[in-house]
Order: sequence, then structure tokens, then C-alpha cells
Amino acid sequence: MPNIILLGPPGAGKGTQAKRLVDERQMVQLSTGDMLREAKTSGSEMGRKVAAVMERGELVTDEIVIGLIREKLGGAAGGGFIFDGFPRTLAQADALGQLMADTGQKLNAVIEMRVDDAALVARITGRYTCGGCGAVYHDQTKPTAVAGVCDSCGSDKMVRRADDTEEALRTRLMEYYKKTSPLIGYYYAKGALSSVDGLAEMDVVAGSIATVLNSGD
Ligand code: AMP
Repeated sequence: MPNIILLGPPGAGKGTQAKRLVDERQMVQLSTGDMLREAKTSGSEMGRKVAAVMERGELVTDEIVIGLIREKLGGAAGGGFIFDGFPRTLAQADALGQLMADTGQKLNAVIEMRVDDAALVARITGRYTCGGCGAVYHDQTKPTAVAGVCDSCGSDKMVRRADDTEEALRTRLMEYYKKTSPLIGYYYAKGALSSVDGLAEMDVVAGSIATVLNSGD
């Protein structure tokens, strides 16, 4: 199974596409954002430390997120990893390369999901997620069939992220352009980059990602 990175600004659809790949190809989603939110909910010391940083939309330290990924890669064999929201800095990208080499694994593709900023604001500010199964919804473009009840699992626990506000989003976008977007050039230079149109219909985006995955080894 291939190991891939989904790269793109907040709201590009990385999480949505990662969840499809988990369902359809039994790949393993490694979302540092989800891991950090879990740490926050569990009330661990690390969770408390990162909560305010996340709420503002800033990046947490490389050391913390590299540690989270190291734990996951160490324990799991087989691969088929989807790195979602990691790496976000050049230091994280270097560390991931090293971790993959150390565990005898290979990165097969880096898929850039291209979107424009105006679309991101609209996507993010209406977004909510099922607390039961993680299905992603949107006030305007993809509401649940019955208000407040998940179409997939029937849970009535809908959650909105604390950092899905316009102000935090501005910071998240700035962090993305300053620190994460250089990774596009980094992986291009390594010959690993593919780009897909993240603004297309969800099924079309999934199709473009499938094409990249099927063309690899
Ligand atoms: P996400 O769910 O990927 O949008 O991540 C939510 C927040 O978690 C980000 O705005 C950061 O504060 C933090 N975060 C997630 N992944 C990383 C990462 N790889 N490096 C630094 N901070 C991260």
C-alpha cells in the first residue's frame, strides 16, 4: 500500500479525502490535527499546552508533532499511511523522510490539493463534523438530511472546531503560506509532487487522487 501526503491549506478538503481513502482502500489516516484535538480533549499535559496555540490558528512546535508521528510509525506495520496535515514545515518534512527511512518505508506520493483563498473562507466558516464518526458537513453546501443528526451514523453530537472562525482562519492561512507552502517546491524537487484541483466536486477530486495512487508503485 502506498504512503502519501495530502498537502494543502486549511479547508482544501484533506480530511474529507483522507476519510474516503480510509473507507475505500483501508488506508491509515494520520492527522496530527486530530491527534492534537484528542490530546486536548483528554486533558493531558501536552493537550493543555497546545490548546491556546491551536485556537489562535498558529502551528504547534515541530518537536510535538514529530513525536506524535514517530509514535504512530513505530507501532504500525504495513503502511498505507495518509499523512493529513503533516508535515507543515521543512523541518517536519526532513524528519518524516528520516523516520520513513528508519522504519524501512517509502513515501510514494505527495498530493497537493489546490484551492483559492476565497473558497477556503466560505468552506471553513460553515464547517461542522459528526462527533461520533467524523463525517464532515457544511451549513450551505452539505447539511445533514435531518438537522443535527449524522447521515452516516445517526449520532446527534455535531461539533464545530474552535479554530474554524474567520480570525483564526486568517492566522492559519498566514502560517500555511509562510511555513507550509515551501513544501510544494521541496517535494517537487524530490520528484514526488502531484497536484489536483481541490475545488472540483468531491467525487472528481477523489478520482484525481485515485489516478495518482494507481499510477504509482
Ligand atoms: P488541522 O486539523 O490539520 O487543521 O490542524 C489544526 C491545528 O493543529 C493547526 O492549526 C495547528 O495549530 C495544529 N497542527 C496540526 N498539525 C500540525 C503540524 N503538522 N505542525 C504544527 N501544528 C499542527
